[in-house]
This record gives sequence, structure tokens and C-alpha cells, in this order.
Amino acid sequence: MSIRPIYLDCHATTPVDERVVAAMLPYFTEHFGNPASISHVYGWEAEAAVKQTREILAAAINATPEEIVFTSGATEANNLAIKGVAEAYFKKGQHIITVATEHSAVLDPCNYLKTLGFDITILPVQKDGLIDLTQLEKAFRPETIVVSVMAANNEIGVLQPLAEIGEMCRDRQILFHTDAAQAIGKIPLDVQEMKIDLMSLTAHKVYGPKGIGALYVRRRNPRVQLAPQQHGGGHERGMRSGTLYTPQIAGFGKAVEIALAEQATETQRLTELRQRLWEQLSQLEGVHLNGHPQARLAGNLNISIEGVDGAALLLGLQPVMAVSSGSACSSATTAPSHVLTALGHSQKLAYASIRFGIGRFNTQEEIDIVAKHAIATIQSLRNSAFVTLGS
Ligand SMILES: *Cc1c(COP(=O)(O)O)cnc(C)c1O
Repeated sequence: MSIRPIYLDCHATTPVDERVVAAMLPYFTEHFGNPASISHVYGWEAEAAVKQTREILAAAINATPEEIVFTSGATEANNLAIKGVAEAYFKKGQHIITVATEHSAVLDPCNYLKTLGFDITILPVQKDGLIDLTQLEKAFRPETIVVSVMAANNEIGVLQPLAEIGEMCRDRQILFHTDAAQAIGKIPLDVQEMKIDLMSLTAHKVYGPKGIGALYVRRRNPRVQLAPQQHGGGHERGMRSGTLYTPQIAGFGKAVEIALAEQATETQRLTELRQRLWEQLSQLEGVHLNGHPQARLAGNLNISIEGVDGAALLLGLQPVMAVSSGSACSSATTAPSHVLTALGHSQKLAYASIRFGIGRFNTQEEIDIVAKHAIATIQSLRNSAFVTLGS
């Protein structure tokens, strides 16, 4: 029997909760209708599921159901938010502010807009991964149209000060977009209190299915204009055409509903597991915690390890645990993580990093196995380091 490694990569994706699968199943077969079919019960049934998820998502972030636009995930939501605003507001201004540690689904649309003549300011982060609000203050210009700062980082888990950023943007009548792919269901989000105008969501980081997400688009005070990036049948109030994927949408709603109901207890449990893992790993010398120690997702632990080779480390860990390393693989190259280098790490130290994403189905026993094996791997790599010295 082959034993599969312990899954600790919950920032990459999560398994779909069985309760979510159960909520999705009827919409593949019995209730297969097109939610846009208004003339028969097949359509009505599907539309009822869509409506329910819209209500769940809206309630989760203190929005209204009409402000939820379904997309294929957070990548599409980020593209729609940033490019959609750029296209709708370019006469007002052509300056966008974002952050060095954003997901590529934010940075790449910004880089694309740069080729069209937009000016992009990429704010650095402090050593703890948080942005410096005085730097944001200095970056504002009369022609700034939108600020995009993520809620929770997918590598180091840090939580940016959304309410403060929202306040600063609102005072200047600049739109505020946040990528909340890692945050929904895990930390409290409130688009009114935090003065958020656009928010990207996805289901598959919160035990829902892949291929479904949403963009919150504020309708009042201010009403956000958005140029659609996908044209067609005029679905989603014209902002995103395409037949809605009812089973995925039903699953998205169920996933968020469960996450909210369990948020408080799960945050507590994950915090304890993370502490337990860190207490063991931090016995070793030369191990650094990446990201702010408190302002972070409960399930995230990201460490950099001195005196080991990143590739060898990952290879040593692989049989026992599924984690991700400090490198971001794009199609052509393996570059060190742009998030870790933004913290000021050398390339070598950035490579020698591990991201643990602890989730709903991990147990204390698993954490202890993982800690033990990681420590043994690091020690053995350090002991054999003399072999490769000078190479
Ligand atoms: C996973 C993730 C995305 C991409 O989401 P998809 O739904 O997979 O397109 C975007 N931003 C962040 C912060 C993420 O963690």
C-alpha cells in the first residue's frame, strides 16, 4: 500500500467538503436547467440555487445580492476588476496602485495595462509583509483611479489593513479593490466597514469546487462602473456574459455557509496547530518565520531555513508532506518567490523556504509527524552540507 503524503498545501487549493459535494450533485442531473430560462420550472430551480448563493456571499461580506457577479474564479475576478475599471475610468486618470506581494492575477493585469499606457505604482512591503500606509499616502495622485491590495497573502498569510486602506481611498474618491481569495470564510470581511468597492472571491480555497468565483461590485456610494471583459448574452447585469455554472455556484454557497458557521472554532483550532508546528520547528537554529506573527491567516506558516539548499529540502520533504516551496513555477522558469524576495530575503534564502497551509482536515497527529520529519530533513541536509560546500 502506498501512503500518500500529508496534504499541507491549503493555499494552493483545498479538497471539496463532502457536504459541499452533496449540495452540488442535484444540479448536475435533476435540476440541470439554465438559470436564465425564465419560462419553465427547470430554469426556476437553477435560478433559485444561484439566488441562494448570491445571498450567502452577499451576507458574508455585508453586500447586497445584486452586487455579486459570478466568474470562473479569483483570477477572472481580478482581471475583470482591474481591467474593467481601467477601461471605464481611463478618462478620469490612468494611474493604478498595487503591491509587490500581490498574486500574479493582480500583478499581470497591471503589467498588461502598463503596455497600454497606464502608470502602475507597485508599493513595497515592510519586513513583516505589511504595507506602510505612509507609502500609500505618498503614492496617491490626482489621476489615481484604483488601489488593489489583497486581503490575505497566499504565501505568507499576512492580513493587510483593509479598513485603513479603504478609508484613505474613499477620502480621495479612489476605488479600492481587494483580492480576498484566501480570506473569504477565514476572516471577517465587511465591504461597508472596510470601504471596499470591488472584492475578488473564489470557492476552491475554502473547500468548494474549482472553477467558480465572484466579484463584488459596489452599486451605491459610489456606484462602480465596470467595462465587461467578456461579452455575450448579457448575464450578470452585462458585466460577465456566459451561462452560469449552477452546480459550482450551489457548491460555492454551501462552502461559504459552512466556513462562516465554523469560522470561530476553526480559527482557534488552526491557530493551535500552527503554534504547535512552529514551536517544534523553531527549536532549530537559523529558521525564520515569514510574515507578521499575529496579522496572518490561522492556517499559514511560512519559514525560511538557513544553510540548506531549497531543491534538496523539497525533495527530502516530499515523501511525507505535500507543501510548497519558496519558488513560484511559471511555465518557463523557476524563479524564487516574488513575495519572499519582497520581504528582503536573498534568492538563496527565498528558495530554502516552506509554506505550510494547514486546513480543515489536518489533525494534531499529522502536524507532529510533519514537524518531526521536517526537522530530521533539515538536520541531515545541514550535516551533509560540507559535501557541497564551494559548489
Ligand atoms: C488562488 C488565488 C487566486 C487565483 O484564484 P483562482 O480562483 O484559482 O483563479 C488569486 N489570488 C489569490 C490571493 C489566490 O490565493
